[in-house]
Amino acid sequence: MSSTDYQIPASGWDVVGHEHAINILRRALLAQRVRHAYLFAGPEHIGKTLLAQRFAQTLLCTGGENANGAPQNPCNTCLSCRKVMHGNHPDVHYISRPPDKQFILIEQIRQLQADAARKTLEGRRNIFIIQGMHEMNVQAANCLLKTLEEPQPDVVLLLTTPDPGLLLPTILSRVQQVPMQLLTTGQIKTGLEERWHVEPDEAILIAALAAGRMGWAVQAVEDEDMLAERQEQLETLAKLSTAGKVQRFDVAQRLSTDSEKLHGILELWLLWWRDMVLAANNCLDLIVNVDMLSSIQHQAAKVGAAESRRMVRAILGTMEALDQNVNARVALEVLMLDLPTMK
Ligand SMILES: [Zn+2]
Repeated sequence: MSSTDYQIPASGWDVVGHEHAINILRRALLAQRVRHAYLFAGPEHIGKTLLAQRFAQTLLCTGGENANGAPQNPCNTCLSCRKVMHGNHPDVHYISRPPDKQFILIEQIRQLQADAARKTLEGRRNIFIIQGMHEMNVQAANCLLKTLEEPQPDVVLLLTTPDPGLLLPTILSRVQQVPMQLLTTGQIKTGLEERWHVEPDEAILIAALAAGRMGWAVQAVEDEDMLAERQEQLETLAKLSTAGKVQRFDVAQRLSTDSEKLHGILELWLLWWRDMVLAANNCLDLIVNVDMLSSIQHQAAKVGAAESRRMVRAILGTMEALDQNVNARVALEVLMLDLPTMK
């Protein structure tokens, strides 16, 4: 790691990486020019909500020297900080798509507006964290626009999305963007060792598998079954390449019944086939599934780069179709037919 990786230590933020994003927020705090809306944008599981929460904490922190203004860093010890960290500060509101619904609903935005119009209960600011802003339908987004156009002085909206391109231009023009990137394997490994006290060997493997997503790495540390399950799913994938049509359709049928897990499984398959492309091109140092290197090399030599690239596109296409609520079983059967057959 070069010395530029260590910028001014942002003590108290307790976030692995994301120095650039933290600096955007700290500059606003230092200049006392906090905007009414921020958009934390970047891939899934990299810590967007965590950073929004830390920012909320800093905006409400009462541990600083100046009782009226926000400090530049959260103190993590005052009552206000602790309440935000535990998710029970009355002035921090969370909004996300209900699990049984396709979108964030207009009723949720109307509730936000009612809460925004009220005085804060404890803090200086009324903060609304909207997770997955891209999952808001046009009706709800237009309703939210009113709040963005004429915000109450103490209201701060913190939005997250994997891709700003998915939001309406009218929304984008009224938010300060905070771009966030995937972390490096080194940052994740160090983070796991220093903060989660993971043994070096395990940290190397998890950091590689995390493919830049700290949130995934932490989940893998906390949930012991996750790595075992990954192993099982990759074995299923490996078997499919020599399986016949009937067996493949059986797997499609089985996977299609567990929509919650399906997204994760397809992400895993995508990384596998991405590794196959890399192996076929001899870029071994970029491979994510490091513990399966020999198997990936062996298969890549048989399948080749062009065919592996085609599979990456096919899996991306399946994920896109599922996002648009295409019948999961049909989408998976199509993918199964796309899989190259190996003898
Ligand atoms: Zn504090």
